[in-house]
Amino acid sequence: MFYYIDFASQNQPQNSRISGRNSRKGGFRQAKAMVINMKILHDIHTHNVFSACCEDKTASTAAYLEKEAALGMRIFGLSNHLWDERVPGASGWYKNQPIVKAEEAKHAFSLAAPGMQVLFGCETEYYACRDLLGMSAEGASHFDYLLIPHSHLHMRNEVMSDFPEILEAREKVRADLAQKLPYLPEKNINAMAASLREADLVRIFPELEIDVIRYTNEGNLNTFRALLANRELQSLCGKLPISIAHSFSPCGVPHAKKNEYLAHIRDEDAAECYRAAAKLGLYIELNVGAITEVNFDLDNNRLIELYRIAKAEGCQFTFGTDSHSVEGLSLIAHGDRIADALALTPADIAEFVRGGVEA
Ligand SMILES: [Zn+2]
Ligand SMILES: [Zn+2]
Repeated sequence: MFYYIDFASQNQPQNSRISGRNSRKGGFRQAKAMVINMKILHDIHTHNVFSACCEDKTASTAAYLEKEAALGMRIFGLSNHLWDERVPGASGWYKNQPIVKAEEAKHAFSLAAPGMQVLFGCETEYYACRDLLGMSAEGASHFDYLLIPHSHLHMRNEVMSDFPEILEAREKVRADLAQKLPYLPEKNINAMAASLREADLVRIFPELEIDVIRYTNEGNLNTFRALLANRELQSLCGKLPISIAHSFSPCGVPHAKKNEYLAHIRDEDAAECYRAAAKLGLYIELNVGAITEVNFDLDNNRLIELYRIAKAEGCQFTFGTDSHSVEGLSLIAHGDRIADALALTPADIAEFVRGGVEA
């Protein structure tokens, strides 16, 4: 079935799931009429109150199931942030989000509307700095699928190292403190210097010149390559569906700058990563939140160009909003446009969520 939606029209069809969302950045108003040939009826990247970063206190599992039913979703996947408690090395933030806590959310799954498939997943973590995956084979057996990101680049010195100039600046502060406070133990001096974050050091040393775009893009690419080479990840491939979450979308970079940063990712480097991912049987997530953060105009969106390369390299896809609120689940409406921009057909969708598209 084909859905014809004229985005330029003020009188959008009653059944348009995108109606009412045409004001932001004016992207839709500029868009020409287009044919949407697939409806996305699954969302498997969602966070609710079981994720520490969720600020919507109403975001219970029951509230999500009710909202997804109202949106007509066929497949809903809950994917809270977590780190498998069997794997040593979690940050303090992840230590408070073990599997045993995430599993509490499952108690409400029985409230799902008849006919809606509910999947229990998670968004785990990969610390490229230590080549450490936050999920063991035993832990993975608790889930229907995994989302694994490589691009939480804001997690400095875990996912991506500090910029070299920042390391030098921190070392200068550490040396100054040691000289001026000789009576303090070394561990206290080190802790004081370590407490200064990138923004603090840039303020202290305004003369620092840092090629942020270059370092960020190197980090973006290196973390993707390292994840694909991780032995634990490779051993999980084939055991359960795994989708690489928001690939190449650099967390921590201001939304308005993402296109500019991503323009420097070379097509051939992206192709190499996606070819390797497809060979491992990994899926690539089309993260509606990340894509629309770059630009609502999908004709001028570097992530869309990169995911076009993923498709050409034989990758299959999953969709997710990355919502952290009940209202955020509505963002899935843009999934139809993303599918259209990439000319996706059901064959391009990962088999375990293919029941969640309508063509
Ligand atoms: Zn993420
Ligand atoms: Zn997420």
